Amino acid sequence: MKIVFATNNEHKLQEIREILGHEFDIVSLADIGCHVDIPETGNTLEENAHLKAEYVFDHYHLNCFADDTGLEVEALGGAPGVHSARYADGTDHDSEANIAKLLRELDGKANRKARFRTVISLITMEGDNALCSREYQFEGEVRGRIDTEKHGTEGFGYDPLFIPDGYDKSFAELGEEVKNRISHRAKAVRMLAAHLKGM
Ligand code: IMP
Repeated sequence: MKIVFATNNEHKLQEIREILGHEFDIVSLADIGCHVDIPETGNTLEENAHLKAEYVFDHYHLNCFADDTGLEVEALGGAPGVHSARYADGTDHDSEANIAKLLRELDGKANRKARFRTVISLITMEGDNALCSREYQFEGEVRGRIDTEKHGTEGFGYDPLFIPDGYDKSFAELGEEVKNRISHRAKAVRMLAAHLKGM
C-alpha cells in the first residue's frame, strides 16, 4: 500500500520505514512533488498533525499521515511542547540552539522529568472516493529525564539530552535499535501500523 508521510525529514522517514516494514510503500512529500513547507499554525500537537495530513489529502487525494512531536518538560510547565522545533529563537530545527536554551532553562532545577509525545494523524480515502475521507489519530509517549549535558552522537533534535526511564544513557547514545523499540514515535507508528494492517 502506498501512503504519503507528510515530511521531508530523512531521519523520521528512515525510522518509520523501519518500523512499518516492507508491506507499506512510504513516500515523502518530495516524492509526490510537494515542496511546500506546510504551515504548522496549531496550538497543539493534535492540531498540527491534523493540519499537515489535511493539506496533503486536500491537494493530492492520497492516503497520508503526518506527525507532530513535542518534548514536554515538567518543570517548565510542558514547554517546549508544540514549540520544540523553534524553541530557541524561532529558527526552525536549530537543535544546538534548542539544546542550549533547554539547559539554561533547567539550570539549577532538581526536577528534570520530561516526556516526548508524538501524535499521528492518518487520513484515508473511503473506497475510491477522494471526497469521502476518515481521519484517525494515534499517540505515543516515552517518559524520561533531561541530562545536565549532551551525550552521544546518534539521532537528532533533543536526543543527546533525553534519558528514557529504565536506562542511564541518552537516546543519542542508545542508538537507533533501542530508540525504535521504545520511542514516542515508535509507539505511535506501531498503532498506525496495526490500524493499516487491519484496513
Ligand atoms: P517534529 O514535529 O517531529 O518536527 O518535531 C519537532 C521538534 O521536536 C524537532 O525539531 C526536534 O527538535 C524535536 N524532536 C522530535 N522528535 C524527536 C526525537 O525523536 N528525538 C529528539 N528530538 C525530537
